[in-house]
Amino acid sequence: MSSGTARRLEGKVAVVTGGASGIGASTVRLLHREGAKVVIADIQDELGRAIAAELGPSDEQHCVFVHCDVTKETDVRDAVDAAVSRFGKLDIMFNNAGVVDPWKPSIRDNEKSDFERVLAVNVTGVFLGIKQAARVMVPARRGSIVNTASVSGVHGGVASHAYTCSKHAVVGLTKNAAVELGEHGVRVNCVSPYLVKTPLTEGFFKPKPGKGGDGSKKPTQMYTNLEGVELEAEDIAEAVLYLGSDESRYVSGHNLIVDGGFTIHNTGLN
Ligand code: NAD
Repeated sequence: MSSGTARRLEGKVAVVTGGASGIGASTVRLLHREGAKVVIADIQDELGRAIAAELGPSDEQHCVFVHCDVTKETDVRDAVDAAVSRFGKLDIMFNNAGVVDPWKPSIRDNEKSDFERVLAVNVTGVFLGIKQAARVMVPARRGSIVNTASVSGVHGGVASHAYTCSKHAVVGLTKNAAVELGEHGVRVNCVSPYLVKTPLTEGFFKPKPGKGGDGSKKPTQMYTNLEGVELEAEDIAEAVLYLGSDESRYVSGHNLIVDGGFTIHNTGLN
C-alpha cells in the first residue's frame, strides 16, 4: 500500500484496458485512490460498470466505464477519446487486457485459431493502445504508456507458445515505441508479472498431476524466493502506479519485472 498524504496522481487521467478484472481492476482502484480520473475499458460491461459505480457517483465523474474490445481500433480510439472528452486529457495509458489459450503441452496440439486470438488481444490490442494513446499524447508532449507483458515475455517454458510469443512481442513493442515516442516527451514501459491469482490464472492454482500425470509441466503453486510473500494483483498495480507517475519521469523503454526473483533465479536475465 502507498503511504503518505500527498496523492501521487492528483490531476492525472488514465485509461486502463482490461480494467474490469484482476490486475486491471486493482490498478483502477489504486490509480483512483492516488487521485487519477480513470476510464475502465473492457468487454465485461457488468463488472466494469460495477467498479466505476463503486468508485463514485457518475455525476462526480471520477471513473467511467466504456465498452472496448482492444482488437477493434474504433473501440480503442473511443476509449482514448472518452478520457479526453470527459476528463480533458490523457496522461496514463495502461494497455493491460490479455487472454490465454487452452493449455496444451505440445505445439502439435495447438489450434491456429487459438494462436491468432491470443495475438489479436495481447499484441494487436497493445499496438492499438499505444497508437491511439500516442495520437493524443504526442501533440500534448507528455504521457506515460504502460503495457502488461509477463515473465513469459523474457523466457520460454512458462506458458503456451501463443502466450509466450505474445508477451515477447509486448516487450518488443514497448522498446520500439519508447525509442520513437521519447523525442515527443512520451514514455513507454512495461510490467512483467509472475503468476498472480486472477480469473485468468485460476486453473494454474488447481492441483495437477504434473509430469507423468497429464504430462504437463504446468505450475501447481506459486514460486517465490521471497519467504512468506505471495504475489498479488496489488503488487502489479503498485508497479504501474510508479511507471504512470512523475516519480518515473526519466524511466522509458524499461521492463519492470515483478516476480520475487523468479526470472533472475531461472535465467539470470532480470
Ligand atoms: P483477468 O482475466 O482477470 O483480466 C483480464 C481482463 O482483460 C478481463 O477483464 C477481460 O475482460 C479483459 N479482456 C479480455 N479480452 C479483451 C478484449 N478483447 N478487449 C478488452 N478487454 C479484454 O486477467 P489478469 O491476470 O488480470 O490479466 C491482466 C494482464 O496481465 C493480461 O495481459 C495478462 O496476460 C497479464 N499477466 C497476468 C499474469 C497472472 O498471473 N495473472 C501474469 C503475467 C501477465
